[in-house]
Amino acid sequence: MERDHKIRKELELYLHIPFCVRKCNYCDFLSMPAKEEVRRRYVNCLLEEIRQRGEQWGEYQVSTVFFGGGTPSLLAGVQIKELMEAVRSSFSLESDAEVTIECNPGTLDRQKLSFYQTAGINRLSIGLQSAVNRELELLGRIHTYEQFLENYDLARKMGFENINIDLISALPGQKTEDWGYTLKRVLELRPEHISAYSLMVEEGTPFYEIYGQDARCREQGGHPCILPEEETEREMYLMTGQMLAEKGYRRYEISNYARPGRECRHNIGYWRGVSYLGLGLGSSSLMEETRFSNTGSMEEYLGQCPNLGKENVIALGKKQRMEEFMFLGLRMAKGVSREEFRQKFQVELEGIYQTALQKLCREGMLAKTEGRVFLTEKGILVSNYVLSQFLL
Ligand code: SF4
Repeated sequence: MERDHKIRKELELYLHIPFCVRKCNYCDFLSMPAKEEVRRRYVNCLLEEIRQRGEQWGEYQVSTVFFGGGTPSLLAGVQIKELMEAVRSSFSLESDAEVTIECNPGTLDRQKLSFYQTAGINRLSIGLQSAVNRELELLGRIHTYEQFLENYDLARKMGFENINIDLISALPGQKTEDWGYTLKRVLELRPEHISAYSLMVEEGTPFYEIYGQDARCREQGGHPCILPEEETEREMYLMTGQMLAEKGYRRYEISNYARPGRECRHNIGYWRGVSYLGLGLGSSSLMEETRFSNTGSMEEYLGQCPNLGKENVIALGKKQRMEEFMFLGLRMAKGVSREEFRQKFQVELEGIYQTALQKLCREGMLAKTEGRVFLTEKGILVSNYVLSQFLL
C-alpha cells in the first residue's frame, strides 16, 4: 500500500474574539462590548477568513488552536462550534490537537460548555484574576469569586480535564498575604495550569489615570503610594513559585506554571518559534519568516470581508530571527539550546552573543548547563534588562 511520506509543517492557529461584556479597568487588549448583530457579522467574516487562509496555508498541520480575546465565551456556543468546523474543514488538524478557549466567569453555562465539547475543545482557560471580591470589583471584572467557582465546578463535572486559571498579582493596595490568600484558594481547586502575571498599568486605561504616576514612581525605584513596592512585587513572585512548587506545579515560563505534562502546548510552540497564524481582528501571524497582521479596526475588518488584506508585512532578517529566538527562548525555564541555535543559524551562539553571555553569567543573571543557557532566579526578576542585552 502506498503511504503518504510527506511531513507536514507544524502550525498554531489563534482566533481572536474581541468582544467583552464591558471593559475592565486595567485592560488595553483589543476588546470591546458590541451588539449581537456586530458579533454575528464578525463571526461570518472570521469564518470566511478561516476558509481563505486554509486555502493558502493548507499544507500545514495544525497542532494547537487557541480562541483568545476579549471573551470568546461571550459568543453563543453554536458560533464557536461553527468556527471549529470551519477550522477542521479548511486545515489539517492533528488528531490530538490542543484546542483552548478563553472563558470569563459570568459568561459560561452548561449549554455553552456542551457545545465546546462537541466542537472538540479540550482545554479551558478561565480568567479569575483574584479570589477576593473587593479586588475583582477594583479591577472592574464582571464576576465574583463565587460565580467563578460555580463555572469551574460545572466544567469539572462535565468532564473538562485540562483547565488553566489566570491570575494577576501586585494589584493596587494588595498585600503579600492577600495574594497568598488567592493562591491558596486556587490551589485547593487543583487546576492543571496557572498563569500568574503582575499587573501592568497600561496607558489609555482607567487604571493609568489613577495609578500611572504611581507606576512611574515605582519604575524609577521610588516608593509608590498605592501600588505595591517593587520589593513586595518580588516577594509575591517568589511566593507564587514556592507555594505552587509545594503543590507539584513546575514553572516552565516566567509567569506560567503547570502540573507535569500539562504545560500549554500553544504557548510553548509560540516561544519555540513554531509558525503561527492569527485570524480575526488585529491578530498577528508569523509565517515562513514573515510577520504580518490584520487590521485592528472593526469597521475595516468587517468592510474588507471577504477580501481580507494583510498589514505590517515584515520579512524578518537573520538578526531579527536571532533576537527573537533569544527573547522567546529565554522566557522558558529550560532556556535556549546551543545546538538548536547552531542548526537554525549556522553559527555558534557564542559567536554572536559572547559579550552578553559573559556579562550576564558574571552578574549571575544567566546560567549554562548541558548545552543550554537559561535565566537564573535573579535573572527572572529583571528579565526585561536581561532580554534587552540580546538586541543586536
Ligand atoms: S475580560 Fe479580558 S479582554 Fe475583556 S476587558 Fe476584561 S481584561 Fe480585557
